[in-house]
Amino acid sequence: MLLPDSRVYVAGHTGLAGSAICRRLEAEGHRNLLLRTHTELELTDDGAVERFFAAEKPSHVILAAAKVGGIAANAAFPAEFLSVNLRIAANVIESAWRHGAEKLLYLASSCIYPRLTPQPIREEALLTGPLEPTNEAYAIAKIAGLKLCQAYRRQHGFDAIVAMPTNLYGPQDRFDPEAGHVLPALLRRFHEAKETDAPDVTVWGSGSPRRDFLHADDLAAACLAMLRGYSDEMPVNIGSGGDTSIRDLAFLIAEITGYRGAITFDSSRPDGTPEKRLDITRITALGWRPAIDLRSGIEQTYRWYRENCARETATV
Ligand code: GDP
Repeated sequence: MLLPDSRVYVAGHTGLAGSAICRRLEAEGHRNLLLRTHTELELTDDGAVERFFAAEKPSHVILAAAKVGGIAANAAFPAEFLSVNLRIAANVIESAWRHGAEKLLYLASSCIYPRLTPQPIREEALLTGPLEPTNEAYAIAKIAGLKLCQAYRRQHGFDAIVAMPTNLYGPQDRFDPEAGHVLPALLRRFHEAKETDAPDVTVWGSGSPRRDFLHADDLAAACLAMLRGYSDEMPVNIGSGGDTSIRDLAFLIAEITGYRGAITFDSSRPDGTPEKRLDITRITALGWRPAIDLRSGIEQTYRWYRENCARETATV
């Protein structure tokens, strides 16, 4: 059972999802968080992971560490996205089980569903069709991680559960115009265009793809609900329950950042999956609801970006 003094290891605690999960755990009185930065613990190194688990023996493990990136980074570095994420999952799941962890929560991703699948996407759609080519390497690694959780549960009775988060955003995201995901990339691009009075901002693709955006703080609440109340091999979708076109997102971000110039859609850039709205029946049955609407979530994220990143990125 997850108690305030449980030894909880959050792998990936400096990232978007992991940092939100830590904030939530701390806010709920958890005082025994085990955290290691990437420099302190290389999760692709099986020996290092094994030694860490042998020494620290966490009772709960949240696997939020991954090599992640937007549509361009996925297409450019498939070898790393596949290899790094496979090794992280294999090492952490094996060591957690071997050293007696009571429960492990693995964060997969909505991009592992087939490219064309009925909306909203139910968990049962997994592996029913071909994947989206722009993020196939990442998706295959995440599917393998999910299958590892199911295999350790079946073979060893290990209580490994899987969350399927949608497109996340929030503080600690990567506000990188090339390698980042769409929401942080556009926040930065529109912010810089506003600051420099640029006449035009380019948005990739046609603007018609639809994405289901969820604030990382909402994801964190859902992860805790799963740790406390879920134990089954079926993965659980975590989404907002709605979706937004990239075009509408761009106009919303322009409004929030105060940018008044033109917006151009560059159709030479890939659109990726046309839509991926998640069915959230399973997670809402655990009593969870998203609490942060898209506009106020972006406003809060934009404040965080201005306070923490805008000065350093403005000179890049
Ligand atoms: P995806 O959900 O895996 O496709 O991840 P992304 O967040 O990278 O992209 C979502 C959608 O936003 C795709 O249709 C992109 O073409 C579109 N998009 C528009 N502008 C940008 C941008 O500046 N960066 C990224 N990453 N995507 C963009």
